[in-house]
Amino acid sequence: MARKYSVSRHAKGWAVYDDAGQRVSGLHSRIDGAQAMCDRMQRREDKKAVRTIRPCMCCRTAFESEGIHNRLCDRCRRVGLDLRMAG
Ligand SMILES: [Zn+2]
Repeated sequence: MARKYSVSRHAKGWAVYDDAGQRVSGLHSRIDGAQAMCDRMQRREDKKAVRTIRPCMCCRTAFESEGIHNRLCDRCRRVGLDLRMAG
């Protein structure tokens, strides 16, 4: 699950907070500066969330998948390529 960021008022300006209420950015004097930062961080977070740990379809080793299309660990992917090249 991707974290959700939002802009909130801080005593000394505006800042980005995550959904746990933790401040995750520096302070901005203007809300639009904080909002731009928030958008950037949210995009990065959404991208990162696509990468999840899943078991390899071939050897069952848990690995960090780059997306739904990525079902083989690096090792098995390489072995598969070698086989294809040999055959
Ligand atoms: Zn594997």
